[in-house]
Amino acid sequence: MTKGLQTRFVCSACGRVESKWLGRCPSCGAWNSFEEEKIQSAPRSAVAPASSAVDDRIRKLSEVVVADSVRFSSGIDELDRVLGGGVMRPSSVLVGGEPGIGKSTLMLQLASSCASVGPVLYVSGEESPSQVKLRAQRLGLDASRIDILCDTRLESLMDAIERTSPAVVVIDSLQTLASGEVSSMAGSVNQIRTCCMALSLVAKARNIAMFFIGHVTKDGMLAGPKIVEHLVDTVLYFESAQTGVRILRSIKNRFGSVDEIGIFSMDATGLTPVRDPSLFFISDRQEGGLPSGIAYTAVTEGSRTFLVEIQALTVPCRGGSPRVYSDRVDAARVNRVAAILERHAGLVLSDCDTYINVAGGIRINDVSTELALAMALWSARTDTPLHGKQVCFGELSLAGEVRPVSFLERRVKAALDMGFDRILAPAVSPVSDERISTCRNIKQAIMISRAFCKQD
Ligand SMILES: [Zn+2]
Repeated sequence: MTKGLQTRFVCSACGRVESKWLGRCPSCGAWNSFEEEKIQSAPRSAVAPASSAVDDRIRKLSEVVVADSVRFSSGIDELDRVLGGGVMRPSSVLVGGEPGIGKSTLMLQLASSCASVGPVLYVSGEESPSQVKLRAQRLGLDASRIDILCDTRLESLMDAIERTSPAVVVIDSLQTLASGEVSSMAGSVNQIRTCCMALSLVAKARNIAMFFIGHVTKDGMLAGPKIVEHLVDTVLYFESAQTGVRILRSIKNRFGSVDEIGIFSMDATGLTPVRDPSLFFISDRQEGGLPSGIAYTAVTEGSRTFLVEIQALTVPCRGGSPRVYSDRVDAARVNRVAAILERHAGLVLSDCDTYINVAGGIRINDVSTELALAMALWSARTDTPLHGKQVCFGELSLAGEVRPVSFLERRVKAALDMGFDRILAPAVSPVSDERISTCRNIKQAIMISRAFCKQD
């Protein structure tokens, strides 16, 4: 090995570093995902000698002048919400997701709607200028103030930034960019890192809000956005719920919280923010009874609370051991709630295969949905429909108790707004309302639910 030149191997899917090549990544399980990376250790002279100039740079923290970062609206409510109240300038934002999910559409909408802030540069390495124009026309966007550059060389992009002094830059996509100074192909770990790092620095230096689109591919053909998450200020991932519904989640945000989600409906006219998510996540049913196996609850995502519908189905297990099929609620949670029902409510579920779904396809992690999950299972197993206006809030303990939940007021309000007026809540409840019935344990919850059904 040449002195000063070392080699290491980086997983293109998750960024794990190994000293040897491996066929399979021990962290993420991807096959053939390791790429060789040469690390040129800096020659001694490149390290600046310590000098007296350092003394001038040490200041009292209290005397440091904070440069004003400016926040502006992207013109898209749901995107502003996920970004923590608007776009920061300067900042670098990574928007990841599977190909075709709507990342380019959202970014083109952003480019058009924030053109009033200053010049916008849209860099496409995937489409020609006329393709981008046609797409903007299809979406009915005003493209008159967007500068387009279809190039994949980092150097030409830097040049374009120099010349147009943009306020906002969109890069579609990070995987198509390549720097002439790196010998590997576009889309390799090395290229993606080099380009992302160079551009994030330019964003800071030139006060730009820089958006990077990064494709996530399941087959690991392209290096994923994971390997640059640490280089940017904000990381957003776009996921698909049911057909035509997209959810934007923030998993890192230097300028705000990460528990906000953005919900969009997607059609030929682009992505439209969804103001009332409950309408998407509960099925439209005519008046009349519910089928068995359906229970309603409310989830809280950041500043928003909305109703969701949990669906359960139990069928006799066909030999072997019973299984839980659930991809929207953690299967371990379903198993635990089933065990609690079996032990504390005498409901036998260990001879059934169980299917759990959430209408609208949203993934739920909120612990307060456990009581609703239990009631959906009970309703499915006993073939007893719940009252159509019943909604349940509560976490379950292993002892079968119904535990208090956070944001009960918000959940109750969301339920009442949607016309649900039989509210089953934990006994220790800070909200008093005649429409709330409280329960201490799962047995009581079942009794009260039966009583709701007899009321009319
Ligand atoms: Zn990996």
